[in-house]
Amino acid sequence: MSASPVLLVTGGSRGIGAAICLGAAKAGWRVAVNYASNRDAADAVVGAIERAGGTAIAVQGDVGSEADVQAIFAAVDSAFGRLDGLVNNAGIVGQTARVDEMSPERLERMFRINVTGSIRCAAEAVRRMSTRYGHQGGVIVNISSVAATLGSPAQYVDYAASKGAIDTFTTGLSREVATEGIRVNAIRPGIIDTEIHASGGLPDRARDLAFTIPVQRPGTAEEVADAVLYLLSDKATYVTGAILNVSGGR
Ligand code: NAP
Repeated sequence: MSASPVLLVTGGSRGIGAAICLGAAKAGWRVAVNYASNRDAADAVVGAIERAGGTAIAVQGDVGSEADVQAIFAAVDSAFGRLDGLVNNAGIVGQTARVDEMSPERLERMFRINVTGSIRCAAEAVRRMSTRYGHQGGVIVNISSVAATLGSPAQYVDYAASKGAIDTFTTGLSREVATEGIRVNAIRPGIIDTEIHASGGLPDRARDLAFTIPVQRPGTAEEVADAVLYLLSDKATYVTGAILNVSGGR
């Protein structure tokens, strides 16, 4: 490959996504750091990558908006002119609630961002990476959750169901594009110490639930990023359709 490969990380400005961006830049990727609204956080990730000698851009856009998805990929096209990898990391949780308390609007937003957003971004990435379209191949990593297997009762069953959809999407897309030079895998993080828990109204969730985790501690964003970096790398050339728990045994 002549120039460094290009990676788009959705929701790359904070938490797990930021750790993926920083790690990928160290591994030689040029990185597009997508964010929804917190420009300062995205700029901080770009700055850290540039100070370490890497290349990155910040790209605003809500993956739950079709117009924004188009704009995100157009920005990557114009900055880099190629795409080699996508990490579908952007995701949200809702406030803790029972299913019978969830509004239709909440469910629509949850699935629009977590599921439709990931599928639409993957579709745009396939168009830019598949040998079917004359490109060089590439790699997609979807960020699921162990919630997909646990169901998150009395917390956010809608979120868990959205991640179940990501698992199934990973299986299907990996088989669909397997002969087109594209590998597609997923990571299921367990309880990771990021700000997502506060956004769901439970700022201490990672610490409070540590006793339920077999290794008795939450994971770090970097521990998830390391698994993503493996799947993105040439160490994983025969790995596709895999869904890897990074969950301390949870
Ligand atoms: P986080 O700390 O809340 O960060 C979320 C990131 O996604 C931010 O960069 C945010 O950008 C961005 N984002 C949110 N909505 C977006 C949208 N509609 N379009 C584009 N970007 C958007 O979350 P995290 O804990 O790192 O989680 C990252 C992924 O891991 C999610 O898919 C989550 O479901 C999954 N996960 C997390 C855990 C955990 O315990 N933390 C466990 C399992 C799975 P702004 O800063 O601009 O808002």
